[in-house]
Amino acid sequence: MLIYWIRNDFRFKDNEALFYFSQDKGEKKLIYIYDESKFTKRSAQKWWLYKTLTEFRNNLEAKKYKFEFFAGLEEIVFKNILNKQNIEKVIYNKIYLPDEEKIEKKIIKLSEAHNVDCNAFSSNLLMDPRLSRKKDDTPFQVFTPFWKNEELKYLSNYSYKNHNIINTKKIEKTFKEFEKILPKKKWYKKFEKYWKIGSLEAEKKLNNFINNNIEAYDVNRDIPSLDGTSKLSPHLAFGEISSRDIYDQYLKLNKKNIGCKKFINEIGWREFAYHLINHFPHMKNKNLRKNFDKFPWSTSKTHLQKWKKGETGYPIVDAAMKQLYETGWMHNRLRMVTGSFLVKHLRINWVEGEKYFQDTLLDYDAANNVAGWQWIAGCGADAAPYFRIFNPMTQGEKFDKNGDFVRKWLPKLKTIPNKYIHKPWEMPKEISKLINFDLKRDYFEPIVDHSKARNEALKAFEYTKK
Ligand code: FAD
Repeated sequence: MLIYWIRNDFRFKDNEALFYFSQDKGEKKLIYIYDESKFTKRSAQKWWLYKTLTEFRNNLEAKKYKFEFFAGLEEIVFKNILNKQNIEKVIYNKIYLPDEEKIEKKIIKLSEAHNVDCNAFSSNLLMDPRLSRKKDDTPFQVFTPFWKNEELKYLSNYSYKNHNIINTKKIEKTFKEFEKILPKKKWYKKFEKYWKIGSLEAEKKLNNFINNNIEAYDVNRDIPSLDGTSKLSPHLAFGEISSRDIYDQYLKLNKKNIGCKKFINEIGWREFAYHLINHFPHMKNKNLRKNFDKFPWSTSKTHLQKWKKGETGYPIVDAAMKQLYETGWMHNRLRMVTGSFLVKHLRINWVEGEKYFQDTLLDYDAANNVAGWQWIAGCGADAAPYFRIFNPMTQGEKFDKNGDFVRKWLPKLKTIPNKYIHKPWEMPKEISKLINFDLKRDYFEPIVDHSKARNEALKAFEYTKK
């Protein structure tokens, strides 16, 4: 019997293992193994997984494919299956993450011990991120040369086939056994109003973005109140759409358009993050740049809590943290602003921020998240230097000029005039009285003073130079 071990590729188009499976005429089945320990700190994603798995299974069963769900450690489940059933071949798509590779190696070993063929197909990346190297045979640590090299290599071997196992069925049947995936706290319920899940939806979203937004992406991508980015990230994180498919669509566009170019560059940043985590696996929870090990981090639990809850007193930071908690997603510009605020204004280790994002983001991606955090903290590859400290007021004034984003997520600040929307503590008493706004009653005083915090961060940064 042939087994397709479904891992993290919940799509019907450009899914090599699924295509191979569909072509096989013998006895076959699909299996998904839910290892709870991988999701204990990924509460938001449990909801997405539940949904995407349901949609995937509905479609596969409609094609009369046999689907089996297991809960437990992948190697243990495999051991049981291989011991009890007559399996000839196992196929799967690769996941290029060091922890996943360890699991894969165990499955290969087990299969070999049972004389079972094990075939790996490509992943949801353009290319194997381990293979790219500079001329001196060391890994890239700067994005631009990495991407130039990667794109050239990708195009010179271009062979995208666009295999499509058509997906038509919406979530029809629900599966009781999947319910164990859902988090106990029903916080995820509100996500329903912001997201449509599944591979068909991801394709629709990409088409819609290409038809309406991509050409203005270079300008609109930095304005959080606009729908200027693709919001494909959770779909990419669960492999509901492939980066090869996105690249294929990009090739049909006007590649000279700056919006298109900028967009495909972001897909490049994703490839770069995977390149980094494969070459420097310790960056999962340790500084890529060792000199940051000496940084005197603050351990203030109060500050960390206030940051998580969006109670820092800096409107652009707080509005972004509300957006994250409410929708399971945060705009890229604001991931940078809130990240910078945590590591620089509050001097809290980026690892704490990485953990919180991991738990609350629907698009959590082990490579992208860690690379993003180390980039903003200044300890990663091609990183923003630590001494470049985002000023939350000017970031707000520049990217949320009229305060639309802040007013949406912090309705208590609705009546504050534009001039003070990003620094309500500076509002003259007469205006506060006129609009009946009291900083302490209706909002928060800033938890740290910007200039003081900036100076302290710069002083602390000196430790990394010793
Ligand atoms: P678009 O602008 O439409 O970009 C298209 C796709 O390109 C994204 O879906 C994503 O897959 C990729 N991409 C875009 N920007 C980046 C980037 N800087 N690095 C790597 N890939 C990128 N992205 C995640 O997918 N998961 C994460 O867990 C994650 N954590 C982050 C944490 C921090 C501190 C920072 C600064 C960034 C993080 N990012 C993460 C990158 C980026 O913020 C999101 O990918 C983006 O906001 C998703 O929205 P979108 O799909 O509309 O992006």
